[in-house]
Amino acid sequence: MPQVQIPPRTGWNFKNTYAQLPEFLYTKLNPTPVKSPALIILNEKLAEDFGLDPATLKNLENVNVFAGNEIPPGAEPLAQAYAGHQFGHFTMLGDGRAVLLGEQITPQGELVDIQLKGSGKTPYSRRGDGRAALGPMLREYIISEGMFALGIPTTRSLAVVSTGQPIIRETVLPGAILTRTASSHIRVGTFQYAAHFGTEEDLKILADYTIQRHYPQGEYDNPYLYLLQEVIKKQASLIAQWMLVGFVHGVMNTDNMTISGETIDYGPCAFIDTYNLETVFSSIDRQGRYAYGNQPYMAAWNLARFAETLLPLLSNDKDKAIKIAEFEVNKFFDFYHQHWLTGMRKKLGLFNEEPNDESLIEDLLNLMEKHQQDYTNTFLALTFNKTEDSPFYQNTEFLKWQKQWEQRLQRQGKSKEDSHHLMRKSNPAVIPRNHRVEEALQKAVEEDDYSLLHKLLKVLAQPYAHLPEQKEYSTPPEPTSCPYRTFCGT
Ligand code: AMP
Ligand code: MG
Repeated sequence: MPQVQIPPRTGWNFKNTYAQLPEFLYTKLNPTPVKSPALIILNEKLAEDFGLDPATLKNLENVNVFAGNEIPPGAEPLAQAYAGHQFGHFTMLGDGRAVLLGEQITPQGELVDIQLKGSGKTPYSRRGDGRAALGPMLREYIISEGMFALGIPTTRSLAVVSTGQPIIRETVLPGAILTRTASSHIRVGTFQYAAHFGTEEDLKILADYTIQRHYPQGEYDNPYLYLLQEVIKKQASLIAQWMLVGFVHGVMNTDNMTISGETIDYGPCAFIDTYNLETVFSSIDRQGRYAYGNQPYMAAWNLARFAETLLPLLSNDKDKAIKIAEFEVNKFFDFYHQHWLTGMRKKLGLFNEEPNDESLIEDLLNLMEKHQQDYTNTFLALTFNKTEDSPFYQNTEFLKWQKQWEQRLQRQGKSKEDSHHLMRKSNPAVIPRNHRVEEALQKAVEEDDYSLLHKLLKVLAQPYAHLPEQKEYSTPPEPTSCPYRTFCGT
């Protein structure tokens, strides 16, 4: 591939702060070039937010950047090393199919990681081919952007390019590279790696860097205790938001939990239709470790692993450090519960607090579970008073619940309009439903027709707008004997 100049007006403005960290935390290397890249999708709005010029990004020079064939000016690519507990087992991992080009400085002066996912082998690839398939990269694009529109902290998707190279999975698939962006890719697993393979000084350097990058505002006596407290709060808020929209991450290994509190790694994730805490989509999660209702417990487990890595920095006295860590991790459930309850009150149009709110909420959820009701659509039916649409709402149990809810609404002294308004803002008209995502991906990958994908992205971009064109996207899938399954390592 001949060297071409990237036009300066593109706006690439790299800093490489991660590359300044101790060398054992990464391997500097370039992505592996691909045969014939083509731009599939570009997130123009996101590009603009990052100070990048969308028109120039579509030029061949920048498509080559997204494909890993060109290194943009100022970037110092590297693959990050990390470890992680995968389904409870500690393993050495790292970017096995990704490289961090560097951190783009946005017009607001923030740093954003620009990472290519599917960019070829690295020293951390183990037996993998370092590559990714078009379908899963588009799926990550759709769902991460859907999560962003739902207001949930997440990594973002800037672009997908096809590589022109087939990749071998169970079948031969078209290869692709996703340009993923994140406030950073520092994971619980990054700290596990540093604690395991580095010195205490290395760990301190990583922790200081992380505080500087993500939590620079705080006042504290011990910065590392402060870091632990902030990460616990951020994760409690994040997991509550997942639960409130019915998101099942599917592979909450410690390497897939960020220190920034952004959702990362959209491999086997999916949204629930009918409400059921036991919902598992991932084909490899046979024990249901990462089931919908287990997510808060798994987050707490991961945070305990994070706290363990910080022990030497929390106190010189090991027993004291353990006590501090346990005390902080135990606060997770309170934080989580508060976020969840606050969110649920909003979903039911409640502005104030009453002691029995939780049982009112639980009663509704239990009814949904018992009668296999669609989670998102039940809240929509309550929001828009469309309870005539299904026999569930004529059920005496539901009618009894509804009466209690209406009395509760009346007691808060707010108008019906106020409650309706709050519910509209808190109950999405659409979520990325699995059958709709699959349909769009199938058309795109198998028929090279991107019309459905673009329509889906448009509909998902404003979940709280409650637009007429969103109606058809709110229909649950037809009942089937074969439950929806997702796959890892795609
Ligand atoms: P994930 O399940 O996506 O969190 O990935 C777990 C680990 O496997 C990470 O270290 C990935 O980089 C690595 N990995 C996943 N797919 C591949 C692949 N095709 N080639 C190399 N490494 C991979
Ligand atoms: Mg991962």
